[in-house]
Amino acid sequence: ECKRAGGARPLLFEPAMRERAQRRGTLEAELRQALARHELFPVYQPVVGLRAAGGDGGIDRCAGVEALVRWRHPERGIIAPGEFIGIAEECGLIGELGETVLFAACVDFMRWQRELGKHAPRLVAVNVSRAQLSNEGLVGKVRAILQATGMPAHCLQLEVTESLAAQDDAMQQALHALKALGVKLALDDFGTGYSSLACLHLLPVDTVKLDRSFICQAESNSHHQVLIEATVMVAHNLGMRIVAEGVETEAQSDAVRRLGCDKGQGYFYSKPLNFDALSAWLRDSALSV
Ligand code: C2E
Ligand code: MG
Ligand code: MG
Ligand code: MG
Repeated sequence: ECKRAGGARPLLFEPAMRERAQRRGTLEAELRQALARHELFPVYQPVVGLRAAGGDGGIDRCAGVEALVRWRHPERGIIAPGEFIGIAEECGLIGELGETVLFAACVDFMRWQRELGKHAPRLVAVNVSRAQLSNEGLVGKVRAILQATGMPAHCLQLEVTESLAAQDDAMQQALHALKALGVKLALDDFGTGYSSLACLHLLPVDTVKLDRSFICQAESNSHHQVLIEATVMVAHNLGMRIVAEGVETEAQSDAVRRLGCDKGQGYFYSKPLNFDALSAWLRDSALSV
């Protein structure tokens, strides 16, 4: 659709562009309302431990959960973050959105501890976008939410997408300040951008999440296997854990385990679930082990 088609093209595209800008404007206004009306909420995807002995073929089903924001739109139903995170970043709403998700995730985590005891998740991960990291107020906000909810700092993991993290001084400083609070840090989508194994040691992260573009062929593509093994080796040498993202099949799960990944996340184990469904999933897996 982006191919050149002759001289009249700019004119042909104008209405489409105007329409897109309008839709964007509408979405922005609606997103503002959505925050005020509490239409944003997290769902949770389990992260399973792959190195546990016994049980579900060596799988520890409640190593952690990742909070993923959803928008319950009054007319359009549930909307995924791909449609609105970018807009929230551009129009300055990402800070408020981020706080909403973080607060809800901490409240829910504490509720699981009360209701599920030893079957509760041990960690909850929350995504933080670059725009949030460059906001000087972030560390104070995180500290206030930990205090208000009683959330232990070491049970919270903040996930940052790699991009140019390692080369960016301000970002490194922000990460060190968060680290000083006692929270865990993860590098998300590793392998997609300008990630470099050589720069990994510059970042104070505990966990590297290997992007699903590597995992989807982990059982068949030898090039990807070598990359996974190399990343595991470097990360382990730096004292970091490795999570394989987007595991969709048993063969992929076996492959990433064999290649040394510590944890796995993906539809093969579970899709993202709401609070109640995740509670049920954890209770069920407790019974089946
Ligand atoms: P992410 O942090 O890398 O999260 C993983 C994404 O992959 C999620 O998409 C999840 O539903 C999807 N996924 C999990 N397992 C599989 C699988 O086996 N196959 C496939 N094809 N996909 C899988 P989702 O929920 O649409 O979120 C997309 C991205 O939006 C996230 O990627 C994250 O970068 C961002 N995001 C989500 N929630 C928040 C938030 O609260 N704040 C910010 N700043 N970003 C968020
Ligand atoms: Mg993530
Ligand atoms: Mg991401
Ligand atoms: Mg990811």
